[in-house]
Formats: sequence, C-alpha cells, structure tokens
Amino acid sequence: MIVHLNGHFLPIEDAKISVLDRGFIFGDGVYEFVPVYRRQPFRLPQHLARLQHSLDGIRLANPHTETEWASIIDELVAKQPFDDQGVYFQVTRGVAKRDHTFPPGVPATVFMMSNPLAMPSAEQIEKGVAVVSAEDNRWRRCDLKTISLVGNVLMRQLAADAGAVETVMFRDGHLTEASASNVLVVIDGTIVAPPKDNLILPGITYGAVYEFARDAGLPFEIRPVTRAKAFVADEMWLTSSTKEVLAVTSMDGRPFASGAPGPMFRKMHALFQAHKPR
Ligand code: PLP
Repeated sequence: MIVHLNGHFLPIEDAKISVLDRGFIFGDGVYEFVPVYRRQPFRLPQHLARLQHSLDGIRLANPHTETEWASIIDELVAKQPFDDQGVYFQVTRGVAKRDHTFPPGVPATVFMMSNPLAMPSAEQIEKGVAVVSAEDNRWRRCDLKTISLVGNVLMRQLAADAGAVETVMFRDGHLTEASASNVLVVIDGTIVAPPKDNLILPGITYGAVYEFARDAGLPFEIRPVTRAKAFVADEMWLTSSTKEVLAVTSMDGRPFASGAPGPMFRKMHALFQAHKPR
C-alpha cells in the first residue's frame, strides 16, 4: 500500500516517523477521514473545513491549502488498486524534545493513507444494529477531531465487550453522540439531532443527512435530546462516514422501539443512497 508522509508517496513499510513526534508523545494532532466512492471523495470541502476547525482549535497552522490537500488526496486515491476508499489523514505538531509547550519553528507531520472503504453490511441495513449506553466522560472539546482518542476507544470497547457496534453517550442527562458516530432520533415523525456544539463532533454525514432530509421535505429539528426522550424515541440512527445511516434496533441488550428499522430510516437510507456518487 502506498501512503503519503510529509510530501512523499512511499510503501507503508517505509513510512517512518520519530518516536519524539508529538502525535506519538502527546496525541497532539488532528485527523480527518473522507469516504471516497468510485474514486470520488464525498463532501471533501466539508471535511477540509472541519480539518481547519480542528487545527484552529489546537492552534496549529494548516500545512496545506485546500487545493494542495485535494491534489494530494487525488494522487493517493489514484495509487490504490480499489475504487471505494477511506482516506485517513492526520496532522501533528511535529517532532521536538518532549515538552508540553508548543515547539517554535517545527514543521507539522502530515501522514495520509487510504484503505478499502468499510461499508455497512446488507444485514446491518436490514436488521439494524445493537448499541450500549454510557455516561459521556470525555473532555469538553469533542467538536475537535483530535487524534487523542483514548476516551472514544474506551467507549467503543464497552460496545465490543457487549457484542454491540456502538456506545451511545449521554452527558448531564442529554444525548451527545456515539464513540465514532453521531446519533439522531425520530420523535413523533420528526428527525431530531443534538446541536453541533462543543460536546459532539460536527459529523459530515450528520450534515449530509440534514440536507437530504430538508431537501426531501422531511421534518428535521436540531435541539437537545434528553436521555429520557432518547430511550423512548420511535427510532434512533447512527451516522458516520463508514456507517452512512444505520438504525439502532437494540439498546443495552433490549429491543429498541419496535426492534426493527423504522419507516423514517427506510426513507433516509434510500435518500442517502440516491445522493452518493455512483
Ligand atoms: N462522532 C465521532 C466521535 C466520530 O469519531 C465520528 C467519525 O468518525 C463521527 C461522529 C461521524 O463523523 P462523520 O460523519 O464525519 O464520519
């Protein structure tokens, strides 16, 4: 597999960074993940805008212009022997003697790789997926896509331990998101999503679902969702670049709502498929 490291394309075995990289030492960096359908990046401008937001949030200068990012991604995509890809890229605060303070004049480390795109299985789409719930104990800048993911890793493992696909989190009695997905609910025929504040990642798929629903005239409201309301919602969905939209049909080992994907999910899933590059 050919990857990109600091301006060079090379086999992954040859891509090496220093153990002093601040990404390795402090998790001091940010990342993005862009789904690529049939070699076309999906919503790249939105991903690059979110990258800029994450970089601004950790006070790290963007090492590339949007045009440069787009052309590196194109080149990387062209070098892979498969059509549907997931491009992962991260920017760290570079290599320096270990010290918490920002090192002056150190170039950022840029690493990018592209793997075959994981997509939901037919069974997951048809039957929905299981989740567990937990109190959200992560930091309060979940709007930044940082590589410091241990909080999310621990949350995801709770799901894995229970044979579920995600952990849906609540903070102070309100729905936030899942370990690597946004969470939307359907209440009385309206799709309801928590606001994009500092407590959740502004998901690009969440944004896509919002636009597709609005354009199709489906009722959509952005407002806080209490834990109590979430548990009795008519439907719950997970959205992410690899899950697209999936229905939650089991929560904490019990059937969720009817225990089957609901009618709004079917509509949203069809809309999403219709809008995907093909
Ligand atoms: N929330 C978290 C914590 C995530 O890690 C992700 C994606 O990895 C998402 C939400 C969904 O974001 P997107 O739709 O941009 O993939």
